[in-house]
Amino acid sequence: MATKSKKKKSAKKAPGHGKAKAAKPAKAAKPAKIARAVGTDPQRVAAILAKLDQAYPNATCELNHKNAFELLIATILSAQCTDVRVNQVTETLFQKYPDAKAFAFATPGELEQEIRPTGFFRNKTKSVMGASKAMLEKFGGEVPRTMEEILTLPGVARKTGNVVLGTAFGIASGVVVDTHVQRIANRLDLTRNEDPKKIEQDLMQVIPKDRWILFSHQIIWHGRRICQARKPKCVECNLESLCYAKDKTI
Ligand code: SF4
Repeated sequence: MATKSKKKKSAKKAPGHGKAKAAKPAKAAKPAKIARAVGTDPQRVAAILAKLDQAYPNATCELNHKNAFELLIATILSAQCTDVRVNQVTETLFQKYPDAKAFAFATPGELEQEIRPTGFFRNKTKSVMGASKAMLEKFGGEVPRTMEEILTLPGVARKTGNVVLGTAFGIASGVVVDTHVQRIANRLDLTRNEDPKKIEQDLMQVIPKDRWILFSHQIIWHGRRICQARKPKCVECNLESLCYAKDKTI
Protein backbone atom coordinates (compact mmCIF):
# COMPACT_ATOMS: atom_id res chain seq x y z
CA MET A 1 0.00 0.00 0.00
CA ALA A 2 2.75 2.42 0.99
CA THR A 3 4.53 1.86 -2.34
CA LYS A 4 1.35 2.56 -4.31
CA SER A 5 0.70 5.75 -2.36
CA LYS A 6 4.28 7.03 -3.05
CA LYS A 7 3.87 6.28 -6.73
CA LYS A 8 0.66 8.30 -6.85
CA LYS A 9 2.35 11.31 -5.14
CA SER A 10 5.38 11.26 -7.43
CA ALA A 11 3.11 11.03 -10.44
CA LYS A 12 1.49 14.32 -9.37
CA LYS A 13 4.89 16.05 -9.27
CA ALA A 14 6.03 14.66 -12.61
CA PRO A 15 7.40 17.20 -15.15
CA GLY A 16 4.86 18.37 -17.63
CA HIS A 17 2.02 18.59 -15.07
CA GLY A 18 0.08 21.80 -15.72
CA LYS A 19 -0.20 23.03 -12.09
CA ALA A 20 3.52 22.60 -11.28
CA LYS A 21 4.57 24.67 -14.31
CA ALA A 22 2.09 27.46 -13.61
CA ALA A 23 3.95 28.46 -10.40
CA LYS A 24 7.27 29.27 -12.18
CA PRO A 25 6.62 32.74 -13.74
CA ALA A 26 6.39 34.32 -10.25
CA LYS A 27 10.06 33.34 -9.57
CA ALA A 28 11.30 34.84 -12.81
CA ALA A 29 9.84 38.25 -11.92
CA LYS A 30 12.86 39.61 -9.97
CA PRO A 31 14.46 42.13 -12.33
CA ALA A 32 15.52 44.53 -9.55
CA LYS A 33 17.75 41.97 -7.80
CA ILE A 34 19.32 40.82 -11.05
CA ALA A 35 20.12 44.40 -12.12
CA ARG A 36 21.80 45.15 -8.74
CA ALA A 37 23.95 42.03 -8.98
CA VAL A 38 25.11 42.95 -12.51
CA GLY A 39 26.49 46.27 -11.25
CA THR A 40 29.08 44.62 -9.03
CA ASP A 41 29.67 41.47 -11.06
CA PRO A 42 33.45 40.78 -10.98
CA GLN A 43 33.64 40.63 -14.78
CA ARG A 44 31.92 43.99 -15.14
CA VAL A 45 34.15 45.51 -12.45
CA ALA A 46 37.22 44.13 -14.26
CA ALA A 47 35.96 45.72 -17.49
CA ILE A 48 35.55 49.07 -15.73
CA LEU A 49 39.08 48.83 -14.29
CA ALA A 50 40.50 47.98 -17.73
CA LYS A 51 38.78 51.00 -19.27
CA LEU A 52 40.10 53.23 -16.50
CA ASP A 53 43.62 51.90 -17.15
CA GLN A 54 43.21 52.72 -20.83
CA ALA A 55 42.08 56.27 -20.14
CA TYR A 56 44.21 57.12 -17.09
CA PRO A 57 47.25 54.82 -16.89
CA ASN A 58 49.29 57.37 -14.91
CA ALA A 59 46.63 58.84 -12.65
CA THR A 60 48.00 60.11 -9.37
CA CYS A 61 47.43 62.78 -6.75
CA GLU A 62 47.46 66.28 -8.23
CA LEU A 63 48.44 68.04 -5.01
CA ASN A 64 52.10 69.06 -5.22
CA HIS A 65 54.18 67.65 -2.37
CA LYS A 66 57.70 66.46 -1.64
CA ASN A 67 56.89 64.16 1.28
CA ALA A 68 54.07 62.66 3.34
CA PHE A 69 53.93 65.65 5.68
CA GLU A 70 53.43 68.15 2.85
CA LEU A 71 50.77 65.89 1.33
CA LEU A 72 48.92 65.72 4.63
CA ILE A 73 48.86 69.51 4.99
CA ALA A 74 47.92 70.01 1.32
CA THR A 75 45.07 67.50 1.65
CA ILE A 76 43.69 69.29 4.72
CA LEU A 77 43.83 72.56 2.75
CA SER A 78 42.10 70.96 -0.26
CA ALA A 79 38.73 70.58 1.50
CA GLN A 80 36.17 72.60 -0.52
CA CYS A 81 39.01 73.95 -2.69
CA THR A 82 40.63 73.07 -6.01
CA ASP A 83 44.02 71.37 -6.14
CA VAL A 84 45.26 74.18 -8.42
CA ARG A 85 44.50 76.79 -5.76
CA VAL A 86 46.06 74.68 -3.00
CA ASN A 87 49.23 74.23 -5.11
CA GLN A 88 49.48 78.00 -5.55
CA VAL A 89 49.29 78.48 -1.78
CA THR A 90 51.62 75.64 -0.77
CA GLU A 91 54.35 76.71 -3.19
CA THR A 92 55.41 79.45 -0.76
CA LEU A 93 53.79 78.02 2.38
CA PHE A 94 56.10 74.98 2.51
CA GLN A 95 59.16 77.20 2.14
CA LYS A 96 58.19 79.11 5.28
CA TYR A 97 56.87 76.05 7.16
CA PRO A 98 58.97 73.05 6.12
CA ASP A 99 57.90 70.60 8.85
CA ALA A 100 55.52 69.79 11.72
CA LYS A 101 57.52 71.89 14.20
CA ALA A 102 57.28 74.99 12.03
CA PHE A 103 53.49 74.67 11.67
CA ALA A 104 52.99 73.74 15.34
CA PHE A 105 54.61 76.99 16.49
CA ALA A 106 53.18 79.25 13.76
CA THR A 107 51.35 82.45 14.64
CA PRO A 108 47.69 81.54 14.05
CA GLY A 109 46.71 84.98 12.67
CA GLU A 110 49.59 84.92 10.18
CA LEU A 111 48.89 81.38 9.05
CA GLU A 112 45.21 82.21 8.60
CA GLN A 113 46.10 84.95 6.13
CA GLU A 114 48.58 82.74 4.31
CA ILE A 115 46.05 79.97 3.69
CA ARG A 116 43.06 82.29 3.29
CA PRO A 117 42.77 81.70 -0.51
CA THR A 118 41.88 78.03 0.15
CA GLY A 119 38.71 79.00 2.07
CA PHE A 120 37.54 77.99 5.56
CA PHE A 121 40.93 79.36 6.68
CA ARG A 122 40.20 79.60 10.41
CA ASN A 123 39.18 75.97 10.74
CA LYS A 124 41.97 74.86 8.43
CA THR A 125 44.52 76.78 10.54
CA LYS A 126 43.27 74.93 13.62
CA SER A 127 43.50 71.58 11.83
CA VAL A 128 46.95 72.20 10.34
CA MET A 129 48.41 73.43 13.65
CA GLY A 130 46.58 70.78 15.69
CA ALA A 131 47.73 67.95 13.41
CA SER A 132 51.31 69.25 13.46
CA LYS A 133 51.32 69.47 17.28
CA ALA A 134 49.89 65.96 17.57
CA MET A 135 52.52 64.60 15.19
CA LEU A 136 55.25 66.27 17.28
CA GLU A 137 53.85 64.98 20.57
CA LYS A 138 52.85 61.45 19.55
CA PHE A 139 54.78 60.49 16.42
CA GLY A 140 58.17 62.26 16.60
CA GLY A 141 57.06 64.88 14.09
CA GLU A 142 56.38 62.24 11.42
CA VAL A 143 53.16 61.24 9.67
CA PRO A 144 51.97 57.95 11.18
CA ARG A 145 51.60 54.98 8.82
CA THR A 146 48.37 53.38 9.98
CA MET A 147 44.79 54.51 9.50
CA GLU A 148 44.12 54.10 13.21
CA GLU A 149 46.94 56.48 14.14
CA ILE A 150 46.44 59.00 11.37
CA LEU A 151 42.78 59.39 12.36
CA THR A 152 43.90 60.64 15.79
CA LEU A 153 45.24 63.83 14.13
CA PRO A 154 42.87 66.83 14.34
CA GLY A 155 41.21 67.60 11.01
CA VAL A 156 42.06 64.19 9.53
CA ALA A 157 39.25 61.85 8.47
CA ARG A 158 39.32 58.68 6.35
CA LYS A 159 39.47 60.55 3.04
CA THR A 160 42.66 62.39 4.03
CA GLY A 161 44.04 59.23 5.65
CA ASN A 162 43.53 57.23 2.45
CA VAL A 163 45.08 59.95 0.27
CA VAL A 164 48.21 60.20 2.43
CA LEU A 165 48.71 56.50 3.22
CA GLY A 166 48.04 55.48 -0.39
CA THR A 167 49.94 58.19 -2.27
CA ALA A 168 52.86 58.87 0.08
CA PHE A 169 53.45 55.36 1.47
CA GLY A 170 51.76 53.03 -1.04
CA ILE A 171 49.62 51.59 1.79
CA ALA A 172 46.17 50.45 0.61
CA SER A 173 44.11 51.35 3.64
CA GLY A 174 40.83 51.96 1.80
CA VAL A 175 39.35 53.86 -1.13
CA VAL A 176 39.40 57.67 -1.23
CA VAL A 177 35.79 58.85 -1.36
CA ASP A 178 35.62 62.48 -2.36
CA THR A 179 32.79 64.20 -4.22
CA HIS A 180 33.89 62.69 -7.58
CA VAL A 181 34.11 59.13 -6.27
CA GLN A 182 30.79 59.56 -4.47
CA ARG A 183 29.06 60.62 -7.70
CA ILE A 184 30.74 58.24 -10.15
CA ALA A 185 30.51 55.13 -7.97
CA ASN A 186 26.74 55.66 -8.04
CA ARG A 187 26.61 56.40 -11.78
CA LEU A 188 28.52 53.18 -12.45
CA ASP A 189 26.26 51.14 -10.12
CA LEU A 190 29.14 50.22 -7.83
CA THR A 191 27.13 51.41 -4.83
CA ARG A 192 23.63 52.55 -3.97
CA ASN A 193 24.76 54.59 -0.97
CA GLU A 194 25.27 58.33 -0.55
CA ASP A 195 27.17 58.28 2.73
CA PRO A 196 30.97 58.34 2.02
CA LYS A 197 31.71 55.77 4.74
CA LYS A 198 29.19 53.30 3.29
CA ILE A 199 30.37 54.00 -0.27
CA GLU A 200 33.94 53.24 0.80
CA GLN A 201 32.83 49.95 2.36
CA ASP A 202 30.95 49.03 -0.84
CA LEU A 203 33.95 49.85 -3.03
CA MET A 204 36.32 47.92 -0.78
CA GLN A 205 34.06 44.89 -1.34
CA VAL A 206 33.99 45.08 -5.14
CA ILE A 207 37.38 46.58 -6.09
CA PRO A 208 40.40 44.29 -5.58
CA LYS A 209 42.65 45.61 -2.79
CA ASP A 210 45.66 45.96 -5.06
CA ARG A 211 43.65 48.44 -7.12
CA TRP A 212 42.30 50.65 -4.30
CA ILE A 213 44.99 53.34 -4.61
CA LEU A 214 45.06 53.64 -8.41
CA PHE A 215 41.27 53.27 -8.70
CA SER A 216 40.77 56.25 -6.36
CA HIS A 217 43.06 58.47 -8.46
CA GLN A 218 41.56 57.28 -11.74
CA ILE A 219 37.98 57.99 -10.68
CA ILE A 220 38.97 61.44 -9.38
CA TRP A 221 40.67 62.19 -12.72
CA HIS A 222 37.60 60.89 -14.59
CA GLY A 223 35.36 63.15 -12.51
CA ARG A 224 37.50 66.20 -13.19
CA ARG A 225 37.96 65.61 -16.92
CA ILE A 226 34.90 63.74 -18.24
CA CYS A 227 32.24 62.61 -15.74
CA GLN A 228 31.55 66.02 -14.31
CA ALA A 229 28.67 66.66 -11.95
CA ARG A 230 26.40 68.82 -14.10
CA LYS A 231 27.10 67.88 -17.71
CA PRO A 232 29.08 64.66 -17.93
CA LYS A 233 30.86 64.38 -21.30
CA CYS A 234 29.39 60.94 -22.07
CA VAL A 235 30.21 61.23 -25.80
CA GLU A 236 33.91 61.30 -24.88
CA CYS A 237 33.67 58.65 -22.14
CA ASN A 238 35.25 55.25 -22.78
CA LEU A 239 33.09 53.76 -19.99
CA GLU A 240 29.88 54.67 -21.79
CA SER A 241 29.03 51.11 -22.86
CA LEU A 242 29.23 49.99 -19.20
CA CYS A 243 27.30 52.92 -17.73
CA TYR A 244 23.57 53.02 -17.10
CA ALA A 245 23.44 56.31 -15.22
CA LYS A 246 20.09 58.06 -15.34
CA ASP A 247 21.78 61.41 -16.04
CA LYS A 248 23.89 60.22 -18.97
CA THR A 249 23.96 62.87 -21.68
CA ILE A 250 23.70 60.39 -24.57
S1 SF4 B 1 28.87 57.58 -19.62
FE1 SF4 B 1 28.61 59.64 -18.80
S2 SF4 B 1 27.72 59.36 -16.76
FE2 SF4 B 1 28.57 57.38 -17.41
S3 SF4 B 1 30.63 57.34 -16.56
FE3 SF4 B 1 30.78 58.15 -18.63
S4 SF4 B 1 30.69 60.38 -18.43
FE4 SF4 B 1 29.95 59.47 -16.51
